[in-house]
Amino acid sequence: PRLPQEMTLEFPSVERVVLVVYQDVSALKEAERLKDQFISLATHELRTPVTIVAGYADRLLARAARGEEHGLDEWQREKVQEMKLASWQLASLTEDLLDVTRIQADLFSLERCSTDLVILTRKVIKRLQATTDRHQLAFQTTLPQLWVKVDAVRIEQVISNLVSNAIKYSPGGGLIEVALEEHTETHEVRFRIRDWGMGIPRTQQAHLFGRFVRAENARAAGIRGTGLGLYLCRELIERHGGHISFESEEGVGSTFFFSLPCLESVLQ
Ligand code: ADP
Repeated sequence: PRLPQEMTLEFPSVERVVLVVYQDVSALKEAERLKDQFISLATHELRTPVTIVAGYADRLLARAARGEEHGLDEWQREKVQEMKLASWQLASLTEDLLDVTRIQADLFSLERCSTDLVILTRKVIKRLQATTDRHQLAFQTTLPQLWVKVDAVRIEQVISNLVSNAIKYSPGGGLIEVALEEHTETHEVRFRIRDWGMGIPRTQQAHLFGRFVRAENARAAGIRGTGLGLYLCRELIERHGGHISFESEEGVGSTFFFSLPCLESVLQ
C-alpha cells in the first residue's frame, strides 16, 4: 500500500520537466532563413561590380606591362597590383558564398562531360606554380590520360582549392605532391595532395569540413581565409558520388585524399 503513494509524489516533477523542454523554434528558423536570404541577395549584388573592378585592374596592369600605359609610375603600378589582388579575392569569396547559398537552397547541379583528369590536373598545377617561387609542385602519375565523366569546372575548383591550401598553409615553402591513380578494381580514381606545412591540430580536425570552420594555428599565423573551401570541396566531391578525407599532424604536414567513381573511363 505504500508504493503507489511514493510514485504519485514523483510524477508532478517529471511533468514540469517535460513542459520546460518543449520550445517553439520557429523564430530561430526564420532568423536563419532571413540570414541565408540576405547573404544570397548581397552576394548576387556584389558579383557584377566586383568583377568589373577586378577586370579593369587586370587590364590596366596588362597595358602597363605592354608599355601602352604611360600614366602609371612605379607607386601607382604597385597600388593597382594590390587592387587587383584584393578585388580577385573579393570576387572569389563572392563566388564561394554564391555556391554555398545555391547548395543550401538545393539549386545546385553538376554538368558532367568527358574530361581528361591528367590534363586538367596539369593545368591547375601550372597555374598555381606560377603564383609561388617558394614551393615546388610535383605531379605524380603513371597515366598518360584518364577520361572520366565529371563536372570539369567543379573538379578543377576542388583540386585548385586543395593545392592552394597546401601552398597557403606551408608559409615556409617546400614540396607539394599531387598524385593521381586509377583503381580499376573499385572503379574509381584517387587524388592525393600532400604538403609539409603547418598541419592541423588534432583537436580541431573533426569539424574541418563544416561551413566557416578554421583551425586555430592558421588564424594565429595570420593566414587569411573564410573556412568555405573545404566545405565546398566536400559538397562537390560527394555530389559526384566520391569521398574526401585527410590526415594531418600539427607541425609535420597534411595529406588530403579524394576519390571519384569512374562513370566512364574510356582510353581515347
Ligand atoms: P580557408 O583556407 O579559406 O580558411 P578552407 O575551408 O579551405 O578555408 O580550410 C579550412 C581550414 O582548414 C583552414 O582555415 C585551415 O585552418 C585548415 N587547412 C586546410 N587545408 C590545410 C592544409 N593543407 N594545411 C593546414 N591547414 C589546412
